[in-house]
Amino acid sequence: MGDVETTMIHQGYKWTDGTDVLLPQLVRITPHVLTQEPMSKHTSFGIGGPADFFITIQNRGELERLLHLIREYHIPFFIIGSGTNLVVRDKGIRGIVIKLGKEFRQITIEHNLITAGAGALLSKAVNIAAKNELSGLEFAAGIPGTIGGAIVGNAGTETGCIGNIVNQVEVLSLDGRFEVLTGSDAEFSYRNSSLRKYIVINAELLLTKCDFLGIISMMNSILKKRQNAQPKGKGAGSIFKNPEGVSAWKLIRDVLPKGIRIGGAYISSKHANFILADKGAQADDVERLIIYIQERVRKDCGVELETEVRIV
Ligand SMILES: Cc1cc2nc3c(=O)[nH]c(=O)nc-3n(C[C@H](O)[C@H](O)[C@H](O)COP(=O)(O)OP(=O)(O)OC[C@H]3O[C@@H](n4cnc5c(N)ncnc54)[C@H](O)[C@@H]3O)c2cc1C
Repeated sequence: MGDVETTMIHQGYKWTDGTDVLLPQLVRITPHVLTQEPMSKHTSFGIGGPADFFITIQNRGELERLLHLIREYHIPFFIIGSGTNLVVRDKGIRGIVIKLGKEFRQITIEHNLITAGAGALLSKAVNIAAKNELSGLEFAAGIPGTIGGAIVGNAGTETGCIGNIVNQVEVLSLDGRFEVLTGSDAEFSYRNSSLRKYIVINAELLLTKCDFLGIISMMNSILKKRQNAQPKGKGAGSIFKNPEGVSAWKLIRDVLPKGIRIGGAYISSKHANFILADKGAQADDVERLIIYIQERVRKDCGVELETEVRIV
């Protein structure tokens, strides 16, 4: 789990004294407050229990005020993008889930720099870059989720990752300060960065001029490859990171029979590193299958598989 959720969720807090105390204060910050919101509506797995509060924040002022309240009451919180890299447990999320709304979804271009709000869809940035004949984001064609999710997890494929093109990132620290960090401050590594302790506000991506047809043909070939390799269905992409020098899917394919399942969760027969969920599947099914795969790969191959998805 990212630092944002671990640091806050495990602190002692008093906000549980009642929804009645907190709700009016939250609604004073923004009307976009939902209570007992099923997280299954907000994750690509389509599973996950309720969040105590699910708040869509429209602008920086609201975000600052919310963070102030969070600190005052020691409320645990979790920031969500599109929920495409998450397994939310069946008991749901205690405290506040924050989603970034309108002001955080804007994308602007200046010369060969694209500034994308953390709440904007990565796919939108990919398309805008292509239309403006800017190359560098083609690798991301077909990766779902937001800019924020992509930045903190350094989303990518074997053809590239977002960390390679980040010029700077604006973040909000948990003590309420907006800061601008450089790409190297962000310490991007394989599906990770040092940004999990912040709320990412936006990212400035440095691209290069290229002709439109060149970009489109590269994107099309990447999309075709994805379609051929990846299954359709409810999941969160690759479940495990690839260990050094070997593909996780090969290890799983070699030690487990195709299509093996626990409850409503099963390993895709098309791609062994994808777990998919049937309608009615529980997060617990997915988590138990993850643990089972890890145990088998550890026992049979002596390799420790680390999850790429975040279990919340
Ligand atoms: C079909 C499919 C294919 C996929 N293919 C790929 C792939 O090729 N490559 C790849 O890298 N990933 C892939 N993924 C996984 C996923 O799409 C990426 O990890 C994506 O970047 C997650 O973005 P999100 O907005 O959905 O983040 P979420 O799942 O909502 O959140 C992921 C993490 O980011 C944190 N986060 C989100 N926004 C912010 C913010 N503003 N500030 C701070 N923290 C934030 C959350 O707290 C959480 O810890 C795939 C997923 C699916 C379903």
